[in-house]
Amino acid sequence: KDMYGDRQNSLGRDYSQAADRESHARALELVDREKLTSGPIVGGKLRAGIDAQNVTNPFDRSQVLGHVSEAATADIDAAVEAAAEAQVVWDRQGGAKRAVVLRAMADALEADLDRLVALLSREAGKTLNDGVAEVREAADFCRYYALLAERDFTAPQTLKGPTGETNQLFLHGRGVFACISPWNFPLAIFTGQIAAALAAGNAVLAKPAEQTPLIAAEAVRLYHKAGLNPDLLALVPGRGETVGAALVTHPGIDGVAFTGGTDTAAAINRSIAARPGAIIPFIAETGGLNGMFIDTTALKEQVIDDVIQSAFGSAGQRCSALRVLYVPRDSGEALIEGLKGALAVQTVADPADPKTDIGPVIDPESRRALEAHVERLSKEAKIIARADLPLGAEKGDLFAPTIAEIPTPDFLEREVFGPILHIYRYAPSDLKSVAGKLAARGYGLTLGIHSRIEAFADEVVDLVPAGNVYVNRSITGAVVGVQPFGGEGLSGTGPKAGGPNSLIRYAAEKAISVNI
Ligand code: GLU
Repeated sequence: KDMYGDRQNSLGRDYSQAADRESHARALELVDREKLTSGPIVGGKLRAGIDAQNVTNPFDRSQVLGHVSEAATADIDAAVEAAAEAQVVWDRQGGAKRAVVLRAMADALEADLDRLVALLSREAGKTLNDGVAEVREAADFCRYYALLAERDFTAPQTLKGPTGETNQLFLHGRGVFACISPWNFPLAIFTGQIAAALAAGNAVLAKPAEQTPLIAAEAVRLYHKAGLNPDLLALVPGRGETVGAALVTHPGIDGVAFTGGTDTAAAINRSIAARPGAIIPFIAETGGLNGMFIDTTALKEQVIDDVIQSAFGSAGQRCSALRVLYVPRDSGEALIEGLKGALAVQTVADPADPKTDIGPVIDPESRRALEAHVERLSKEAKIIARADLPLGAEKGDLFAPTIAEIPTPDFLEREVFGPILHIYRYAPSDLKSVAGKLAARGYGLTLGIHSRIEAFADEVVDLVPAGNVYVNRSITGAVVGVQPFGGEGLSGTGPKAGGPNSLIRYAAEKAISVNI
C-alpha cells in the first residue's frame, strides 16, 4: 500500500487470446458502420456548428469514419455561460462528491474499451496495444484525480497560528478552464486534462485536436453518461487559429491547459499575456528532444528492445519518444547491427490488425515533413536502415521507420515527431560537451540511460535537463500515479500529469483567518 491506499491501475486486454480478438473484430465492424458525428456539444446537445468536414482513417484515406463541424463563436459563448453557472455549484460540492463522478467515468471507459480501442485505431492510427493502454490511462487519470480531489478539496488544511485564531487554507476551483489537447493521445490526454480541471472544481470547454474529434465526442458523451452535469463539460472542436484562439482570449475563461507542440504553446502564452482583464494560469505540456545515453557496460539485448520501443512505439508520435541515441564510438557497431535487425522485423501495417507493431503517422502534412527530414538525412547524415512498407501503403499515411547516423551532436535543432531514430557515436572523453549540446537546445522532457555504472548515470542526469529520467528501461509510457509525467524548459510548465501535485495549478487557494 502507498499513501493512496490500495489504489490500482486499470487492467487491459490480451490479443493473444481468441476471445479478446473476436470482441475487437466486432467492435471494429460496429465503428465502421456507425458514421459518428462530432461538433459543438453544449449542455449535452450536439449543435450544428459550422464548416462540416469528413473525418478519415489515416491508414486508408478513402474510409470516411464520420464527420465533424467546428464550434462557432455563438457555441463558445453559450458553452462558457452554461459552464460558469454550473461551476459554482460543482465547486461548492467539494472533492469527495466530484470523485464519485470521476470514478463513474473511469468505469464507463473500461466498459466501453473495445469500441474505444477500435475507434482509436481507425481515427488516430493506434495499434491495439496502444489503444488499450490509452483507455487504461484515461481511466487511471480519472481515478487518480478522484483521489486527489478527496485528499485536497474535501476539508481545509488547518494551519497553526497565534492562540485565539483559527487559520484555514481552502483549495477551490478557478472557474471555467479551456482544455486544448493533442491528437497523439486523443483519449488519455483529452480525458486526463478534463478530469484534472473537474477534480479541482472547475468547469471545462474542451477543444480536441483537429485530427481526432470523434473519439473526443465519445469521451464527452461518456462523461455525461457517467453523471456529470452536461453544463460542466462542453466540446468545442475546430482549428487552433479559430476556436483555439477564441478560447484563450475569451473573457469568461479562467485558465488554460494545453498539451501539444512547443511553438503552439508559445503562441498561446503570448495570446494569454495580451488578453485584457484577469491574468490566468497556463499549464503547458509540450515537445522534447529526448536522448538516451549508452555506455560500454550496457546490456546490448536490453538496449535494443528499449530503443525500438522508445523510438518506434506509437510510430514515434509520443512527446516522450526517443529521438537521439548516444552510443560509445568504438563499441557501437554491434548495437547498431542489432537495431537494424530489430527494425527489420517490425510490422508496419494497418493498426487495427493485432499483428501490427507500427501504424501510420497522423496526417499527410506530418508524413511529408518526415519525408523531407529523411531527405535531409540522406544528404547530410547517413541512413542506416528503413523498415519495409506493405503493398498499397500509399492509400494512407504509413511512413517507413528510419534509423540514421548523424555526423555532429548538434545536428538536430528541434523535435522531429515521428518514427525516426538518430544515432550519434560519441567519444566517451567528450561526454560533457556532447550532452551539453543536447541540453543547450532547451528542452527537458525524457532522458534515458543504459549503464551498470551508477556514476555514469548520475553524470548524465546532471548534464541533461529532463522531467522524466529512465535508467535501464524504455523512456515512454509513463504510468499514472507511478511516473508523474511532464518536462521543463521548452518541454512545458508543469505540474506533471498523473502525480501528487497535478491539480495545484487548476486550483485557487483561499486562506481564512478567524479571531475567536
Ligand atoms: N505520457 C506519455 C508517455 O509517457 C507521453 C505523452 C505525450 O506524448 O504527450 O509516453
